[in-house]
Amino acid sequence: MSGEECFKILEKIFIPKTQNNQNEIKGYTIKYGYIVENGKKIDEVLVSYFKSPKSYTRENMCEINTHGGNLIVRKILEICLKNGAELAEPGEFTKRAFLNGRIDLLQAESVIDVINAKSEKELKAGINQLEGRLSKEIKEIKKKIMEVMVSVEADIDYPEYDLEEVTLVEINQMLDEVIEEMKILEKSFDNGKILKEGIKTAIIGKPNAGKSSLLNLILDEERAIVTEIEGTTRDTIEEFVTVEGIPLKLIDTAGIRDSSDKVEKIGIEKSIEIAKNADFILAIFDSSKDLTDEDKQILDIIKEKKSIIILNKIDLETKIDENTREIKEACKSIIKMSTLKQQGLRELYEKISEMFGLEEINLDNDNIITNIRHKNLISKAINSCYEGKKAMENKMPLDIIAIFLREILENLDCITGDFVTDDIINEIFSKFCLGK
Ligand code: GDP
Repeated sequence: MSGEECFKILEKIFIPKTQNNQNEIKGYTIKYGYIVENGKKIDEVLVSYFKSPKSYTRENMCEINTHGGNLIVRKILEICLKNGAELAEPGEFTKRAFLNGRIDLLQAESVIDVINAKSEKELKAGINQLEGRLSKEIKEIKKKIMEVMVSVEADIDYPEYDLEEVTLVEINQMLDEVIEEMKILEKSFDNGKILKEGIKTAIIGKPNAGKSSLLNLILDEERAIVTEIEGTTRDTIEEFVTVEGIPLKLIDTAGIRDSSDKVEKIGIEKSIEIAKNADFILAIFDSSKDLTDEDKQILDIIKEKKSIIILNKIDLETKIDENTREIKEACKSIIKMSTLKQQGLRELYEKISEMFGLEEINLDNDNIITNIRHKNLISKAINSCYEGKKAMENKMPLDIIAIFLREILENLDCITGDFVTDDIINEIFSKFCLGK
């Protein structure tokens, strides 16, 4: 519970073993006792106390640790509600932390990222943001603009000093600087999106090439952290795996996985359909057989797509290799594998990591944008910088240029939440789960 009344409500429902006056309760302490209703003991609990302002929300807070059954938790929640507590909205605790100024909006949003993180790197990016590293960088950019803004305002207010020329040089320099910095942030979203959503990957190939063997090999590796997600097309599911730091969202059509016996083999039409939905394709070929027309069709499908050619079954006598004309002409990276003997998987991961530039992500030094809202605002701010520069080239008066500078600041303020509407705040926190 959080809020002014929370200790009062607690007093009505909690009997600590050692009674003491409410005013004597210290923050960061835990008390042992019973939750009671109408004089009847409901459960043996521990209650942690946090006193304003030293709490998650900056308000008085308490946490009741009960035994973890469904019924008992629900019952205690009901007792709290009966005694005056209100059910929190999704994300309400974090929202209060933001509204009470303990964290900014960027940090509040990173709480969801931390909770939902599926890979180490994504988690690290979330934690960095929660710590306020991205906020700090945004603040530094804002500071640069505000410093120049001071001169601009002075020139507008005191034109008689005739410092406009100096100020214009100053603005131009500053804009170039912040454009460069914001562009790096904007670009980081390419990787941020991959970290968050995974590379949407399809495995295609003619029947018996080894699609399901490859999929199973990848999934088996990291079985523990495979998450099944409802796919975007009917009868597909997507499975999120992180292999050696590479987040892959594998499109698994109903059947690829078990196609070896149970379900019908996946044909070319289906492969085309799968390929359409993917950002990245693993095209798999049976190297123990000559290329068939189906194989050639597959080579055609991947032409325009980011893809890797996998020559599978190298444990058998090979009929095709990287020098086979059609394979060579496809101009794609080629990995030789035996999914049966589990060979070639490391090389495959290395190649994927290289192709997507994931090796370059250094979360110890670089901030990375993972949130589309932030990315859009950065893009808008960059746009305003260019408009400001154009206005200067066109010899617009200083007060017009000042409008563009203010626009940049407003966009950056929307990211940190210094300037943001209630609607946006509500929208952001509605994505949280209950109790966060
Ligand atoms: P799919 O139809 O493309 O999904 O192909 P499967 O993964 O079901 O594989 C077809 C057959 O090829 C199965 O009998 C597999 O055991 C076999 N197979 C798959 N990969 C290899 C490999 O690397 N070497 C050998 N010798 N056989 C393989």
